[in-house]
Amino acid sequence: MEQKLIRNFSIVAHIDHGKSTLADQIMKMTDTYDFRNHQEQVLDDMKVEQDHGVTVRSKTVRNIYHAKDGNQYELNLIDTPGHVDFHYEVEKSLSASDGVILLVDATKGVQAQTVANYRIAKDNHLVIIPVINKVDNQNAQVDMCEQQLYELDESFLEKDIIHISAKTGYHVDEVLEAIVKEIPSPNGDVKQPLKALVFDSHYDAYQGVVAYVRIIDGQVNTNDKLVFMNQNVRFEGNQIGIFNPQLVPQDQLNPGDIGYIITGIKDPSEVRVGDTITKSANRAQEAVAGYQPASAVVFAGIYPKDADFKDLSSAMAKLKLNDSSIEMVEHVSESLGMGYRCGFLGMFHLQIVRERLVNDFGMEVIVTAPNVNYRYTTTKDDNFKTINNPSDLPDFADLKVVEEPINQMIIETPSDSVNDIMALVTKHRGVLLNMDNHNQMVRLTYHVPLAEIAFNFFNQLKSISHGFATYDSSFDSYQPSDIVKITIDVNYSSVEELTFLTHRQNAFDLAQEIVHQLKYVIPRRLYPMPVQGYIEGRVVARVDVPPLRKNAAVSEDAKSVSKKQALLRRQSLNKRKSAADAVQLPQSVFDAILNIE
Ligand code: GDP
Ligand code: MG
Repeated sequence: MEQKLIRNFSIVAHIDHGKSTLADQIMKMTDTYDFRNHQEQVLDDMKVEQDHGVTVRSKTVRNIYHAKDGNQYELNLIDTPGHVDFHYEVEKSLSASDGVILLVDATKGVQAQTVANYRIAKDNHLVIIPVINKVDNQNAQVDMCEQQLYELDESFLEKDIIHISAKTGYHVDEVLEAIVKEIPSPNGDVKQPLKALVFDSHYDAYQGVVAYVRIIDGQVNTNDKLVFMNQNVRFEGNQIGIFNPQLVPQDQLNPGDIGYIITGIKDPSEVRVGDTITKSANRAQEAVAGYQPASAVVFAGIYPKDADFKDLSSAMAKLKLNDSSIEMVEHVSESLGMGYRCGFLGMFHLQIVRERLVNDFGMEVIVTAPNVNYRYTTTKDDNFKTINNPSDLPDFADLKVVEEPINQMIIETPSDSVNDIMALVTKHRGVLLNMDNHNQMVRLTYHVPLAEIAFNFFNQLKSISHGFATYDSSFDSYQPSDIVKITIDVNYSSVEELTFLTHRQNAFDLAQEIVHQLKYVIPRRLYPMPVQGYIEGRVVARVDVPPLRKNAAVSEDAKSVSKKQALLRRQSLNKRKSAADAVQLPQSVFDAILNIE
């Protein structure tokens, strides 16, 4: 299709505001996809998915729309991931679009991810079409939503904000017309060398990595010899095509087109979202700007519970095929055996991986208490080294500077919770950058250490604001910080998985808390076991894990003195023998630690 008849757009919204419902409605109202006639095909696709173990996450789809001006347009809806952990992917899928529909739930109003997505769209210079959804709901507060949108962006005052019901289809035709009228058509140059931006990908067991692309300039044809410019990986485009939403092969993709390229590449880590594909014979001068592979921010150990390391290993390898953002290296733990030290894009990502291990692979695992990464210099070396395992931090005497990751966080909250929320964020070492009032809602912008918000913070925020506050957060920078290491001894030997890094201000309380939590979750033995917490070589906390049962020496059964003595001798022998055994660390140990506030 001619470029002037193409529109590339995304829908962005806070979670549950109706993005998927609107996407389905748009598909129904255009000539994309006749559900009745294609039912068999859909079922086929699902079977293929099951057999291949492929999950086609993306809902990217080409819609054909007969506009009121009499022209037939190609409206490419580009799917974006729906969670804050995936900021980088959202940015990349938006950079493949020329405009966005900013969807707001009329019963909820503007929420934190509405604001975050708005800002990403604005930074990418995209046309923004504000739309209020769920106006069929009796709790809809359309006027409030309009006010909030005007406060977000004054230029919305010049538009007629469209009120829709994605569910019933009411006024969705106006959204389609607005897409055609307001979003610019692509303006790529077909005579330039090929430049295709990779905005998503999936792995197919037979075909290898399938890259989802927007053609910026040039053309790609089946069997072209291609190369990923940043990763410098060569391949042949075995098959190219478009999304309908299933993959439909084509001979050629042209500037402005949204489509896929089957790369045949079997190692998913070679294909990164944000990379640029060009032809190896006629290379583009430079790649699309802003390439930086999504990086892990939360780290934890994963160990098999009752299964073999071999089973875990094969499950993890399969997971990694469809989610190349999981980082993993083998790690041997004294207490947990062979396993992996893994990196995730956030806590939500970690949770998904854990669930998939159970649901898709039947793998019960032990996940250790997560931590963020840190970097440091020493008195001997001024180059920063980054660590993601707390026990890798050198002794405090050798350290010069330690830095921790700082996030920028946006919180949207009703004004009556503001004071409590500010107290909460301050307690978590947040620094307030900005505060805006608008229509009984307050928007707070903070710099806050990632370690303080990565784990439990969101639950606290929800409970303080009675469920009304929303937040969004993304990495800002590394900043120097007074970080200290807490180590834990159980029965006089140090347990690597229970080493923590934290700010000095929290260290003493945290050490106390951990040690007390452990008292009830470390499996008991026949004798009491001391648990001790150390900071910079000093013991700061201690409890004794109570013995499994009463000391035999004082039990009623031991009648004579000699029997008593024999028992005591046996006990003390056992004690020495089992002191050498590594302490058992069940999942409850790490769950207890995660619940510390
Ligand atoms: P997403 O998380 O943004 O993709 O949101 P969904 O499309 O999954 O919608 C979230 C919930 O809102 C679902 O229960 C939908 O049925 C409901 N919903 C979406 N659009 C409308 C609408 O226009 N009216 C009403 N009443 N409910 C809607
Ligand atoms: Mg959805």
